[in-house]
Amino acid sequence: MKIIVINCGSSSVKYQLFDMDGPAILAKGVVEKIGLNGSFIKHESNGSKNTFEGEIIDHQAGIEYMLGILISKEHGCISSFDEIDAVGHRVVHGGEKFNSSVLITDEVIAMLEECIQLAPLHNPPNLSGIYAMSSLLPNVPQVGAFDTAFHQTMPDHAYMYAIPYSLYTKHAIRRYGFHGTSHRYVLRRALEILAGRNVGRIITCHLGNGASVAAIVDGKSVDTSMGLTPVEGLVMGTRCGDLDPGIITYVMQCEDIGRGTVNTLINKHSGLLGVSGVSSDMRELEAASAKGNERAQLALRMFRYRIRKYIGAYAAAMGGVDVVVFTGGIGENSDSTRYEIAKDMEFLGLEFDKDKNAGVRGEEKIISKDGSRVTAMVIPTDEELVIAQDTEAIIRAEK
Ligand code: ADP
Repeated sequence: MKIIVINCGSSSVKYQLFDMDGPAILAKGVVEKIGLNGSFIKHESNGSKNTFEGEIIDHQAGIEYMLGILISKEHGCISSFDEIDAVGHRVVHGGEKFNSSVLITDEVIAMLEECIQLAPLHNPPNLSGIYAMSSLLPNVPQVGAFDTAFHQTMPDHAYMYAIPYSLYTKHAIRRYGFHGTSHRYVLRRALEILAGRNVGRIITCHLGNGASVAAIVDGKSVDTSMGLTPVEGLVMGTRCGDLDPGIITYVMQCEDIGRGTVNTLINKHSGLLGVSGVSSDMRELEAASAKGNERAQLALRMFRYRIRKYIGAYAAAMGGVDVVVFTGGIGENSDSTRYEIAKDMEFLGLEFDKDKNAGVRGEEKIISKDGSRVTAMVIPTDEELVIAQDTEAIIRAEK
């Protein structure tokens, strides 16, 4: 079975074509700068990488261009669209309506339209991808996999905010959490790798440009650091994470700015970038910090400190912890970040192994000492594979 996984952002479409019999990736790439000057597609298949330029005015045009490349003689890997059995879409916000991936039907699309107000930046491009595929490949079934779905198992005391209850009933304001597909993938790998060991209470740390921590008991998410939107929780590349809500109205008053500007401020100009003034990118911050840039050093200390606080909080919430997993671009690659977060955690039962951790990049590895009661590990995430597998399972069940 061949499945194409699509992840539509506001001006980009990431894609991967899987042959599920491997599973193997037949082609992957990204359509960039949709609707902007200088749009292009970076495409990889058959071991070669190519860039295709051209005016791409919207998601549908980008997807059509990409599909054309997939069947082209020179750069393609399939002979016709008939070879594509299904499409799997990443959908950011499923609200309370979706607790697992679903076959996309007219009813599901109507429910997704209702979720737009919860994620006005993310869900519209996801829907554009669904509409584009419906018109370009009308006979191919589509599946939606939601970033929020995995966290739908949280208990109410974890997902409710202490604001008037009517705001929940009227506007669905509650914690939803994101990165669910990634937390679910690394959980599954941790369970496979640690089969037979004590793994009841797991803390998964997805540390990329966006970052979140999840507390997982017996395979179910019981808490997570992102909230109604992805801005809550950890210090991120450009998002502030946890904040005294009073700051928002105070800054609006002091700086005389409106809600749009304050929203941009907490989402795009804060986090590592806002504090350091250097970059939102961990590699650039580590380089600046090594050269003695004090604000880069402060940003790094804040980033790690916030993660340590969440690990401590979630260990308390779960009555202990058995496994701590690091994933995402930073969690998978930055050994110094992992070390600074997880050293001195013997009080929790975690004996970190500095030597095992050193130099681990993008590979599955246990980084706690042999005999440590709590296992620390690195697991590279693979959200696209999860979406492809969910899609395959749903399509097979439908047949
Ligand atoms: P996204 O959330 O956009 O998917 P990623 O998961 O790819 O992001 O993570 C991007 C982050 O990972 C960036 O801050 C980048 O600097 C960091 N990163 C990638 N490789 C390394 C590395 N070798 N060392 C430190 N940080 C890294």
